[in-house]
Amino acid sequence: MINFNVPPFTGRELEYAQQAVRARKISGDGEFTEWCHRWLEQELQVRHALLTTSCTHALEMSALLLGIRPGDEVIMPSYTFVSTANAFVLRGARIVFVDIRKDTMNIDETRIEAAITSRTKAIVAVHYAGVACEMDAIMSVARKHGIAVVEDAAQALMARYHGKSLGSFGDFGAFSFHETKNYSMGEGGALVTNDDDAYYRAEIVREKGTDRSRFFRGQVDKYTWVGTGSSYLPSELNAAYLRAQLELAETINNSRLRTWGIYNEGLAPLAETGVIDVPTIPQGCDHNGHMYYIKVRDHLQRAELISHLKARGIMAVFHYVPLHSSSAGRHFGRFSGADVVTTRESERLLRLPMYYGLKDSDANKVIESVLEFFAPPTARREHIR
Ligand SMILES: *Cc1c(COP(=O)(O)O)cnc(C)c1O
Repeated sequence: MINFNVPPFTGRELEYAQQAVRARKISGDGEFTEWCHRWLEQELQVRHALLTTSCTHALEMSALLLGIRPGDEVIMPSYTFVSTANAFVLRGARIVFVDIRKDTMNIDETRIEAAITSRTKAIVAVHYAGVACEMDAIMSVARKHGIAVVEDAAQALMARYHGKSLGSFGDFGAFSFHETKNYSMGEGGALVTNDDDAYYRAEIVREKGTDRSRFFRGQVDKYTWVGTGSSYLPSELNAAYLRAQLELAETINNSRLRTWGIYNEGLAPLAETGVIDVPTIPQGCDHNGHMYYIKVRDHLQRAELISHLKARGIMAVFHYVPLHSSSAGRHFGRFSGADVVTTRESERLLRLPMYYGLKDSDANKVIESVLEFFAPPTARREHIR
């Protein structure tokens, strides 16, 4: 059986968790959290990083920090995870969905400007599969209109756009360390920013609306309630797990890219003959092997292929149902312009097994099974009716 995902484990997780327990420091913001903050700041080349309890919470924090209020509009793709939208809807925003690009499944940067109104407060760029959105175009349209940019970089740690880390372009970057992501702490995430003022406000929002972070640094002699906030900091046990992962970030990244390359090469014959589409990595994008997907004819063929693979012990899964077609999405948002790509392409997409430690032989078995499904009719007489 080849699972779709296996949570990453590198070897030192338990040792670090034990250290946290022995040190009698298991609540948040101890030395493991601190280590992860410095690692993220260094790796991403950002001024500030804060671990959070999830990427969902990092997105909620950005909505709070941007002061999103009822009636504000936030632009994003419809092809994304629920949390991208929910974080802003919780603050009363209306979501304005924009179509995506067929090649990357990312927001179509050429359609953003037409979606901007006097109420638009933010654009959320989701880097699907760790492949960058066109950040130059997005940042320039945002600056021109004085609108904030939040990067949903949940899938994008270790990925770059023209050499610069994803998550470091916008006002805020939100990362996920859920067990389905390249690096994990079970449940968890991070919020990053280059804005000092936003960072100090973020510390307060993250610590129940108190200035406890400053108190711990000895900058105030007691901590009190100074603003609105919630509890968005993870336990040291989770941060200890994450440290073991981040220490081997390069190894994990290379291993995933290797698997990605095996798939891409093995499935090239089907892509070249137009039987399937495979991911496009635009010029200037360094991705992180977060996902390998193929696109088949339509959702019917996809269902057949899922069954075909399942019968061979291979778990392949589809992905997002576009948010604008969901009941909450219809209630809280609207689609700007026409949905030309989003629905059609999302119904064709199938994700193949991908995780740190997936054996080459297993990747090859997946490839063979996909090739077998698409074998020309002459070789599959039993299927001719
Ligand atoms: C995984 C994911 C999230 C949510 O991350 P959590 O850490 O589980 O809250 C949000 N957005 C995208 C694009 C994701 O892939």
